[in-house]
Amino acid sequence: MNELRKDCLLDRWVLITENRGKRPHDFIQKQCEAKEGVCVFCPGNEHLTPKEIISISGPHGWTVRCFENMYPATSLDFPQAFGRHEVIVEMNQHNKNLQDLPPGAIREVIDMYCNRICEISTISGIQYVLIFKNHGEEAGTSISHEHSQLIALQRVPTLVEEELAAYKKYHSKEKRCIFCDIAKMEMDSERKIFENDDFFCFAPFASRFPFEAWLLPKRHAGNITDLTNEEKNSLADALKKILEALSKLLKNPPYNYYLHIAPKGEDFHFHIEICPRVTKLAGFELGSEIIINTMPPEKAAAELRSLL
Ligand SMILES: [Zn+2]
Ligand SMILES: [Zn+2]
Ligand SMILES: [Zn+2]
Repeated sequence: MNELRKDCLLDRWVLITENRGKRPHDFIQKQCEAKEGVCVFCPGNEHLTPKEIISISGPHGWTVRCFENMYPATSLDFPQAFGRHEVIVEMNQHNKNLQDLPPGAIREVIDMYCNRICEISTISGIQYVLIFKNHGEEAGTSISHEHSQLIALQRVPTLVEEELAAYKKYHSKEKRCIFCDIAKMEMDSERKIFENDDFFCFAPFASRFPFEAWLLPKRHAGNITDLTNEEKNSLADALKKILEALSKLLKNPPYNYYLHIAPKGEDFHFHIEICPRVTKLAGFELGSEIIINTMPPEKAAAELRSLL
């Protein structure tokens, strides 16, 4: 039965529709042709990117590399769009996906995220650092070599502000963290996908996208930079696992993920939201901000669990 659902956190609604009885293979996108030509993110072409800010090195050169975006959306030089816009190349191989890397190499990407958040947060005037990943053309990237980006802003993004407001409202009433409570509730629900020592993965009750999945640390931690060594390793494992499952089920789907960390000086519960982009937003969605999701999260979680 179709169901209009309110998000556990936000005043955001989705219409979960089951009537079309879609199966995972109905969401498989046709693969985009790989573009030929020079890849500016490949080793040997470093001179084609803006100057390196920092990299992590292995025995055969860099493994993770960060530089300013060639066409930055925000910059310390733009008074009206003050911020930073950086690219994090996640690996030195061209034809691999993030989940193909061993957990130790994914951990290096996490370390780079932490490094950039720590450094950029100290810049006066910067209020928020949003790290995100676009994978595949339908998810907004034109360069197939795996990378993440970060955009730092003078203000806290509206979505994070709304999550924080909901967090605070719940906290003042219940004296507990809403994310910790959601984790507790979903741990035994049919929306649970998996857990490891330190992280929990589930399909949100009001998932906007088919096979949307969230990663939450089990311990109440506001920022990825607050995680312990072991927790960061668990995050690398969890990210690999969910991306592998999504890739297997949907044949390397386009997706976005983004990190929601605590705004400066605020208490919050860090999480990563992973959004496969296998459907299109259309007129109803734009006009109502209510998204129609044709894959109920309970069914999505069961499909993903069956692959683990
Ligand atoms: Zn490349
Ligand atoms: Zn919490
Ligand atoms: Zn969030």
